[in-house]
Amino acid sequence: MQAIVWPISFLGKQLDDSLALQKSSEGANLPFVDLDAASIAPRRVVPGLSSVMSKTILVTGGSRGIGRAACMLAAERHWSVGVNYLKDRAAAESAVAVAERVGGKAVAIAGDVSRESDVIAMFDAATSALGPLDGVVINAGVAATASRLVDMSAERMRHVFEVNVLGAYLCAREAARRMCRSRDGNGGSIVLISSVAARIGAPDVYVDYAGSKAAVDALALGLSKELGREGVRVNSIRPGVIETEIHAAYGDPDRPYKIGASTPLGRPGTVNEIAEAIIWLLSDASSYVTGAIIDVTGGR
Ligand code: NAP
Repeated sequence: MQAIVWPISFLGKQLDDSLALQKSSEGANLPFVDLDAASIAPRRVVPGLSSVMSKTILVTGGSRGIGRAACMLAAERHWSVGVNYLKDRAAAESAVAVAERVGGKAVAIAGDVSRESDVIAMFDAATSALGPLDGVVINAGVAATASRLVDMSAERMRHVFEVNVLGAYLCAREAARRMCRSRDGNGGSIVLISSVAARIGAPDVYVDYAGSKAAVDALALGLSKELGREGVRVNSIRPGVIETEIHAAYGDPDRPYKIGASTPLGRPGTVNEIAEAIIWLLSDASSYVTGAIIDVTGGR
């Protein structure tokens, strides 16, 4: 079969035409026809989607660890990123500086996800600085020092549940309020960060944390069904043990290496390996994925 070689100028014009179509269809709020101008075989038409669309996202706990890595990958795609943090302003400002250096627009936003007024203010700040949100990564979370349930204080359990459960539900509610089409939103993608602990229960270390992450998975399942027809996809990622500062913060800096060695892949995961899954779920590449709980655990 003879190969068809398009002149560069023709491909350039076709690309310009496709971008013009995207602009006018966005303005008129009409379905977008993805011509995928650079390939000879057109891709399937998916109403409302564009393969070249930039995104505006908010990442809770985006200043360090997994959240920061997600902010960086988003910035590399020239997305606009709201970087939420709790206390460490220097880390948040450095995340913003790096994100802008690699090509994104970014803003640091302080706020405690377990406080309703902070959550509302955080979403307002992100929207006024960056524009309407297309994606929200509900990542901020806390663990606790290793303990059996018999020795746990109510105070510790309350803190874990307030940040990991109430915080996730408040952030998901604000995301839904702003992205639902019936509320004049544009649809979008919510990515919840759960944990493999939700599946294995984390005995002898933190069954409270495991329970909080099981609640996050239940939120993803239920909310995906509430919001599917609103144009909002909701998914959960369960990281396995990942190299971040969270382990040292709770007194066991070697935990990633001890646990990682026993996984089928024989090592802990990196923040980028989780961030790749987050960005995929935020992107239109995962347009038919909702209500999924995705293990990124090295096979654990
Ligand atoms: P990390 O390195 O400790 O970073 C935590 C981030 O969350 C920081 O940006 C922190 O901000 C922020 N944060 C903490 N409490 C907050 C609050 N109440 N309100 C707003 N922001 C808050 O954590 P990580 O290891 O990247 O973990 C991120 C998520 O992945 C968590 O939900 C965690 O449960 C989950 N996860 C982690 C692992 C792992 O092995 N690392 C495994 C499974 C699941 P400040 O620095 O300003 O306090």
